[in-house]
Amino acid sequence: MGVRVYKFGGTSVGTVQKIQAIADRILAEPDYGHVVVVSAMGHTTDQLVALCRELSDSPDPREYDALISTGENVSAALLSMAIIAKGGNAISLNGAQAGIYTTNGHKRATIQRVNPSRIHDELTKGNVVVVTGFQGITDTQDITTIGRGGSDTSAVVLAAALGVSECHIYTDVDGVYTTDPRIVKNAQKLPVITYDEMLELAAMGAQVLHPRAVECAKEHGIVLHVRSAFLLDEGTRIQEVHTMEWQRAVTGIALKKDEATLSVVGVPNQPGIAATLFSALGDHNVNIDMIIQSNEQQNTTNTITFTVSEDDFLEAKAITETVAKTLGADRVVGDTSIAKLSIVGVGMISKPGVAATMFRALAHAGINIRLITTSDIKISCAIDMAVGEAALKALHEAFDLAAANA
Ligand code: ADP
Ligand code: ASP
Ligand code: MG
Repeated sequence: MGVRVYKFGGTSVGTVQKIQAIADRILAEPDYGHVVVVSAMGHTTDQLVALCRELSDSPDPREYDALISTGENVSAALLSMAIIAKGGNAISLNGAQAGIYTTNGHKRATIQRVNPSRIHDELTKGNVVVVTGFQGITDTQDITTIGRGGSDTSAVVLAAALGVSECHIYTDVDGVYTTDPRIVKNAQKLPVITYDEMLELAAMGAQVLHPRAVECAKEHGIVLHVRSAFLLDEGTRIQEVHTMEWQRAVTGIALKKDEATLSVVGVPNQPGIAATLFSALGDHNVNIDMIIQSNEQQNTTNTITFTVSEDDFLEAKAITETVAKTLGADRVVGDTSIAKLSIVGVGMISKPGVAATMFRALAHAGINIRLITTSDIKISCAIDMAVGEAALKALHEAFDLAAANA
């Protein structure tokens, strides 16, 4: 019997009625084995994070994971119950029971291996297996979480462990669009997008998929099918695409609003400074994205500015302040009103002038660029959060993305 792996996101399991509709959808396909990964209902995880923040700016990481992983337990048990109530056979498994083993790094642990033997046993018994997304267990039996939005990754990792070639991600939009359709009304649904483009878009803040899910799907050659939890339509397939000629330079645009910058002002201009600073941040699992260094005072000192996600800002600031003292820097300045805007497209490799078009469109809209980074298929700019949406709309227009599939 073929096995299907699905993931239903927070909005899709947001109410008992929606959970019942998912149960119906699964029971309508009795010829398959089903492994269904679920997120926490609605905004449950945000509410759990807010509870932690009421207690502390830097809650104990082990207990933080123990708490914020619980939302998925609720939705998994409810879906399993709903299937049983409708006459089906189902069982819910948490991350540990599903054999999802992670590294020790709490809050952002990485899945290291999966032992799917319990899942296989339950499928053999004829059960729909409902697995909690987002959580795993360390070799020392501590509960971990794998980063916000991580249930997508849980599903892909299970698909890989079960040898399934397609993983269906059911969500509250009916596919991947040229940009967030909630912000740009004439964004276009993409029928297909390459792993590399989706990876850049996801990493740059297109919430629709967790970056690690795309990475893992690429690694195992699993096609991701992003589709609506409420409609039966085909969505967007993320897969390898082979073409000799890319028609368009830009495939999609991502806006990440919750960014922050930290600047270390007046650091001595000597070797090893950046290594010391970024090693300290890396040791604490803080992800750095854009970095810029500028000279001051006839090259005797520098200012190093970098971006972090706003979630990590307080922790990153405390670490940076400690390192800045040891380096003899003047001061650390933080700004949490930053957004990151990124254009992504495999086509830009062979098309000149893409950066110029982006900068011209931003200039025309009166938007100041703070930092810039590029890769082969991406250009990102840090800008003021207040103008983020206006800038996104300006770029969507400048690259004519509303006509992308016309
Ligand atoms: P889920 O709870 O199902 O995991 P998410 O909220 O994490 O859903 O992701 C879906 C949301 O991603 C959509 O509601 C949409 O606003 C947002 N989004 C951002 N960029 C895109 C894009 N390029 N295409 C589709 N959706 C996007
Ligand atoms: N519930 C978790 C979150 O809100 C994981 C997920 O939804 O993918 O981040
Ligand atoms: Mg999500």
